[in-house]
Amino acid sequence: MKENEEHENEPVDTYKYGRGAQFNTKNKFIKNESTREHIEGIDERIEADVKTQYIEVFPKTIVNKVESPDVGMMYSMNPYQGCEHGCIYCYARNSFEYWGYSAGLDFETKILVKKNAPDLLRKFLMHPKWEPVPIMLSGNTDCYQPAEQKFRITRKLLEVCNEFNQPVGILTKNAWILKDKDVLQEMAKKKILSAMVSITSFDALLLSYDQRNACYGQIL
Ligand code: SF4
Repeated sequence: MKENEEHENEPVDTYKYGRGAQFNTKNKFIKNESTREHIEGIDERIEADVKTQYIEVFPKTIVNKVESPDVGMMYSMNPYQGCEHGCIYCYARNSFEYWGYSAGLDFETKILVKKNAPDLLRKFLMHPKWEPVPIMLSGNTDCYQPAEQKFRITRKLLEVCNEFNQPVGILTKNAWILKDKDVLQEMAKKKILSAMVSITSFDALLLSYDQRNACYGQIL
């Protein structure tokens, strides 16, 4: 028997390791959709992994006024939409439908990167009517998700805030925040920083079951 021949007739594993969602849910804002109802080509290998795509976008604004009374922040900014951490319970999944994508697998595989965010923030802070109150980074998605390691937009936003003495709040699950210790320390000394870290679990066994994501090593 040749090497691997014994596995030839085993069912193809379609589980998407490293992902929270396993399929795309319907976007309620999109009228038409295409679906695959039956998988007939039983000999076809089904792709079990879904690679992350980074999509550059250029929004007109970066700071949002938060109107919701149940969220403890007045303003927020999100350098990325979608979040590769892919927590299945994430409330930001539903907001991803506004961008025309699914709240399921799309949310954690199609990451929108707001390339012009630092320029927009600078313009916003220079507005004569702006009276500094804290702006929350990660109001919707995690600003230290894996995309940050490639694009460093959160870092650039912090540098702008530091320059303008703009108070900032941060909430993250990712240890990558430590890469910005220098600027964060400067801001902390000026008392314009509040940083919160969400720790998934201290239970090593539980964490080993939770290795949904390739970036897990970076998640606290
Ligand atoms: S890290 Fe936060 S923003 Fe990202 S998927 Fe998890 S809960 Fe949502």
